[in-house]
Amino acid sequence: MLIKKTALEFILGVSRSTHPKEFTALLRGSPDVIKEVLLIPGSLFGENFASIRFDMKPFDSTIVGSVHSHPSTSYEPSNADRGFFSKTGFIHLIVKYPYKSIKDVAAYDLQGNRVDLGVEGQL
Ligand SMILES: [Zn+2]
Repeated sequence: MLIKKTALEFILGVSRSTHPKEFTALLRGSPDVIKEVLLIPGSLFGENFASIRFDMKPFDSTIVGSVHSHPSTSYEPSNADRGFFSKTGFIHLIVKYPYKSIKDVAAYDLQGNRVDLGVEGQL
């Protein structure tokens, strides 16, 4: 899986400014590339990922998955995270503190298995 540099930088920046709270959003793109971050009204400063407002989710077939931050140094998905992953999209990112680079981002599939993630245009 690849992510556009602009989308990665946006995620890292919002995660930093939301800290110590969690940042949650949806991802938009193609089957191979995450291109955009879609903020959901009411979810930006939510206390936890599981409380995301799905009723606010616009109908959009280009949504490929989700992203949320962990205000800790672990990007292991919690049980609630795994339950959520299976419900929407096929790629899910968790960003961990200090939200500095792609090394602080982990990608998971809908079963919660780790997936390789690279920045588009960089090897
Ligand atoms: Zn989580």
